[in-house]
Amino acid sequence: MPTAIAMLTTDNHDRDAAGLQYVYPVISRRAGGLSVGINFNVNNACNWRCIYCQVPNLTKGVAPDLDLALLQNELEFFLNDVQQGGFYQRCQVDVNNRVIKDIAISGNGEPTSAKNFADAVALIGGIATQLGVFPQSHFVLITNGSLLHQQRVREGLSILNTYGGEVWFKLDSATKEGRSLVNQTTQSIKSSLANLKISAELCSTKLQTCVFDYRAQGLSDKEKNAYLNLLKTIRETTNVSEIMLYTLARPSLQPEAGQLGALSGVVLDTFAEDIRQIGFKVSIAY
Ligand code: SF4
Repeated sequence: MPTAIAMLTTDNHDRDAAGLQYVYPVISRRAGGLSVGINFNVNNACNWRCIYCQVPNLTKGVAPDLDLALLQNELEFFLNDVQQGGFYQRCQVDVNNRVIKDIAISGNGEPTSAKNFADAVALIGGIATQLGVFPQSHFVLITNGSLLHQQRVREGLSILNTYGGEVWFKLDSATKEGRSLVNQTTQSIKSSLANLKISAELCSTKLQTCVFDYRAQGLSDKEKNAYLNLLKTIRETTNVSEIMLYTLARPSLQPEAGQLGALSGVVLDTFAEDIRQIGFKVSIAY
């Protein structure tokens, strides 16, 4: 059985904070409550290497096979602890934040790379429903979208949909050079767009876009225009209508860290306005 839960501060994203392998709590002032994170990538492995990534000791690879019995044990233990109030009291969580906002599959790597991804989504959905967490709280999958064409991942998205879940799909750049630099991926825009369509057909889907300063170059017109053009296509060919725009809030743990910086609020606001003109709803995290 999992052991005692450590002291948790607001916006503490330490995945060891609960002393569990798969489950980690994040109290977010911005979200106004508790986000229950589920990390499938306990080996810190991802098929991409975004240069702003905050995963320590990130390696290239996939998530290991998930121990579903352990995941079940941890999630039931943690949700019970939260619902009975012990977690909030021990961690001195503000009474206004004592609500589970979401359960988010968001790992130290790409979660859909786990072979038994669909089984794990079903397990989480079932436990959260049984314990009365769903449907009040959201069920979120945070993904780079690169593997969504695979049948086992599609199955996972269909299951996510049955629990009213949503996909947050990463799209940082619409140029080959930008994706190669920012995400260190060779996956084409075309293939990413095809996967976005699959996602949007199977489950409610939002885009997540990280923009930042690299070597004091700011957000170039080339990147900006390519992104806006791609959004026009997305608007015309999918039902995706929301974008979460953000910049670097915490330091990258990749070798490029020293060359990266946050973009100003003015730049983000201007970019967001351009996106709204295309017909998207935009939220900004400064
Ligand atoms: S997709 Fe996510 S986990 Fe993978 S390298 Fe990029 S930011 Fe890190």
